[in-house]
Amino acid sequence: MFEQTFNEDDVAESDLVTRRGTFRAVAFRADGHEHMALVYGKTKLRENVLVRIHSECMTGDIFAAMRCECGEQLDAALNTIVREGSGILVYLRGHEGRGIGLVDKIRTHVLQDQGLDTLDSATSLGLPVDVRDYTPAARVLRHLRVQSVRLMSNNPDKIAALEENGIPVTARVPSLMTPNPHNIAYLTAKRDRLGHDLPQVDSFTLPHAR
Ligand SMILES: [Zn+2]
Repeated sequence: MFEQTFNEDDVAESDLVTRRGTFRAVAFRADGHEHMALVYGKTKLRENVLVRIHSECMTGDIFAAMRCECGEQLDAALNTIVREGSGILVYLRGHEGRGIGLVDKIRTHVLQDQGLDTLDSATSLGLPVDVRDYTPAARVLRHLRVQSVRLMSNNPDKIAALEENGIPVTARVPSLMTPNPHNIAYLTAKRDRLGHDLPQVDSFTLPHAR
């Protein structure tokens, strides 16, 4: 029913010593992209494995852009996994700008700086709002023989996508970053228009303009 394994050619793994500790780095090819699962501690054949499925965001993840909360979520997820002693971070490529790609994502930033939100800036360029595919994440979790997951996410669509692909989600673990003046509009649109569960957005007040 589901694609169970990868061809030997399409997967490789090694230890990866990081500043946070030693992970198992599992690189794999799926759907024309090369992705990575970072595995910490014992997760094989386990239930309720703590998992973050992180969509690539070069601006946020690598350059610490404050326009979104991706970089902070990535750091927080890895910290939480290490603190718990086990878990998996699946880093999915090809997910820039919810799947539109890096160049078009940067084009949407221009429109966002003129006042359009994260959805309207995409649709006004004729681009889709969200075309991310989570099946590579489900495939690698099956490959790693994870039985069920606690998913670090605020996005109900991601839970549905995993379950449709045969990975039971036993709990959702919120991943709530403190908003800043540069991402509050983005977070508000995600809450109000994409259905993400972001209660911390309610309590944010912009610093007084002088
Ligand atoms: Zn981002």
